[in-house]
Amino acid sequence: MSKLLIRPHRQPDECIVSYLIPVSEQNGFHHIGHLLQHAGLPWKNLRIPTHQMITGEYDIEPYFSQLGLDYTYPRTADTFKSSQLPHFTTKIFVKTPKICPECLEETGYSSDLWSHIAYTACVKHKLLLVDTSPKTGKRLSWYRRTLNEFNKNDPFPTVNLIPKASPATLAFTRTMAYLIEGRSLPISTPAVLKGLNFVEALSLIHFIAHYQYRLFHHALFSPASLDNLNVSLHYTQAWQSLKRWPQGFHLLISQYIDNPMSDRGQSGINKHFRDIHEKLHRQRKNKGIARLRAAFDQFIEINWPNAIQTHRLTRISLSSSERPLITQKEAQRILACREPRIHSLIAQDKITLHKFKGKVYFNRDQIESLAKMYQDNWSMEQAVLETELSRYQLKQLLDAGFVKALQKADSQNRDWLICKKSWQHLINNLKKSADQNQKAQGKTLSGLQKQGFMITNVFYMLARSELSYFFKEEASKPLSFKQLGNFNWKQSVINSAQ
Ligand SMILES: [Zn+2]
Repeated sequence: MSKLLIRPHRQPDECIVSYLIPVSEQNGFHHIGHLLQHAGLPWKNLRIPTHQMITGEYDIEPYFSQLGLDYTYPRTADTFKSSQLPHFTTKIFVKTPKICPECLEETGYSSDLWSHIAYTACVKHKLLLVDTSPKTGKRLSWYRRTLNEFNKNDPFPTVNLIPKASPATLAFTRTMAYLIEGRSLPISTPAVLKGLNFVEALSLIHFIAHYQYRLFHHALFSPASLDNLNVSLHYTQAWQSLKRWPQGFHLLISQYIDNPMSDRGQSGINKHFRDIHEKLHRQRKNKGIARLRAAFDQFIEINWPNAIQTHRLTRISLSSSERPLITQKEAQRILACREPRIHSLIAQDKITLHKFKGKVYFNRDQIESLAKMYQDNWSMEQAVLETELSRYQLKQLLDAGFVKALQKADSQNRDWLICKKSWQHLINNLKKSADQNQKAQGKTLSGLQKQGFMITNVFYMLARSELSYFFKEEASKPLSFKQLGNFNWKQSVINSAQ
């Protein structure tokens, strides 16, 4: 056996199996099976272990070296290794290739991202990947003669014939690519996926896709045996349900109520839920699945308390602080308020009410962040206490915009919410600009006001640096405006007035 005459360079992100296609073509082999047989691969019927080459499970390096080809460990093998779930491999990589004809034309090679089942569209060209010949209906093959056609006389479809990828499909595919490449996720990523790795995120989406698929097809969802168009459809649907989390997922499982698993009414429905529960329990160590379990547990507890026996539920019970959905009572406790306040917050669109089978609940995140906002800022009473200005003065400063309000008092709100941070900022700046060496006897704030200057006039003059003043720090009231005293007009102001 001789080494090859032509040994094209393999790109770092080039699919290791697809790479062999031009190698075999350029060296006159019929397809990659013949090429590796020439290198001594003893597989029957000119087959080669394509899937195991992608996952790195089959050590193909000796055959590469026989042929004089540089072998570099495929990136896909890293994805596979890091998944640490051997049975998961059928959900990660395709059996037959898929491609973006536009990318192939531009770069001349197949990206290794394309061999991931979850990577269903080309993010660059916004097209679904192609894996089936529109002419023959046959799948694209690793054993094709050339890289850029299905077969002789069966070229790839032109751009206008390739289905466009929807924004949701592109968002899903982009997220998968980021996770595969270990990059940090875009801000727009659904919150439920944040902090998950590729396998955890895919498990979560796959689980949802599986139960969605089962609902309508009454069969197992096995993406490796579906074409890319279908895989894309089901994963995108699952992706959509992540946006409104956990309601999207709850909506899905609530459909089982109308589609019992058997004709025996409620017990047929319970069977569904027990099945989901068992699957979630078995994979509980997977962080993505654990998040699904939290949402599922919540759903059962709220809507279908008898579907799973209590002793089973306690096995998966979450500590109450982990539950994403909370009752109104819990919301009132967190916000330290009574029921009318909740109604007013809903009317103001500050919190969202979710109704499910007649019960009311709220998103914990939303309630907690609102509670934090109240804790971190001031009511009018607190502001009066801390700034040592009167309610009347504060109201004037709020109206003039010198003091920032996060919430104005109106017919729906009895209370102001005053931004503490911006007041802190203001006091800090005033402290920095104070004239600590001034000698002249100046006026007090009330002295200025007796002369007819309103508090807003004083703030206006301070903002224009027209007043000099002394800043006397008061440790017990570090945000008090009373720390300022001995006000004098600056010489430049006096001069210009004369
Ligand atoms: Zn492309």
